[in-house]
Amino acid sequence: MSVSYKNIGLANTNDMFRRAFAGRYAVPAYNFNNMEQLQAIITACAESRSPVILQISSGARKYANQTLLRYMAEGAVRMAREMEKAKGADQAIPITLHLDHGDTFELAKSCIENGFSSVMIDGSHLPYEENIALTRQVVEYARPLGVSVEGELGRLAGIEDDVKAEQSSYTQPEQVVDFVRRSTVDSLAISIGTSHGAYKFKPEQCTRDARGILVPPPLRFDILAEVEKQIPGFPIVLHGASSVIQDAVATINKYGGKMKDAIGVPEDQLRQAARSAVCKINIDTDGRMVMTATIRQVFAEQPGEFDPRKYLGPARTALIEMYKRKNREVLGSAGRYGQEF
Ligand SMILES: [Zn+2]
Repeated sequence: MSVSYKNIGLANTNDMFRRAFAGRYAVPAYNFNNMEQLQAIITACAESRSPVILQISSGARKYANQTLLRYMAEGAVRMAREMEKAKGADQAIPITLHLDHGDTFELAKSCIENGFSSVMIDGSHLPYEENIALTRQVVEYARPLGVSVEGELGRLAGIEDDVKAEQSSYTQPEQVVDFVRRSTVDSLAISIGTSHGAYKFKPEQCTRDARGILVPPPLRFDILAEVEKQIPGFPIVLHGASSVIQDAVATINKYGGKMKDAIGVPEDQLRQAARSAVCKINIDTDGRMVMTATIRQVFAEQPGEFDPRKYLGPARTALIEMYKRKNREVLGSAGRYGQEF
């Protein structure tokens, strides 16, 4: 039985992105595949009064079961509304349920039938004309239902769930007008040097700072500026935008982990991007790292502990803090829907 997202309190991204563009901030898109992550995302975004995009990848669907994830998202909306009611909030934060890296029309359609309010169709691995045709096919199905569609042009390097690419290729600004016009997509993910995963840059691409930590090459803001010039006012999306928080890397390595030279995109560069036409910034790896760091620390310091709540609970607390800080300092999305509580 199919369900419309409108009946479960979700929102598409259109109004969210209009506000983000005008307010010069970006909406956070956080991935989840388990309860603690989802609780942390909703708690952090409700308390910081930030719009939020809940992202589900194909890997998450396989791991957690797509039906369960759908109902978890529905539960998350209700949880946010209860928190708002308890605090007497005068507006509700908009919440989107979004398919991350959909690769076929059938998958996008199935998600939409299951209550998703937004889908990404990633045809970036296809030849240009096929990318347009596939994206357009999804838009033609989604638009009458009020579901927003994100496309991608250019390729990110890195590995994340089922998405893998050896080599990145930057988005060519001269292609974006044609792509947006013919695909009629609602937002566009571009490649300007972000990358999926915890090893975004190879040591040979970087320099090292005084502590020996890798300093990555800067994002290609020149490409972003050219894209903005070609399609003024059009919402841009950045994937692979975790910073691979170095405190988390250090904690993981201190307590038995092995994440040598894990590195991400510096947060000041993301803050700069969020002030531009970038309206959505995807963050997944940082959540994984903070969770892992906390759990490793609990295991090392309390080896007798065996109740999952005693390590997943602290991990959830650390996630809430991290998401709130991201909303406030990186995305600029905090306090946009009323006063923080
Ligand atoms: Zn991605």
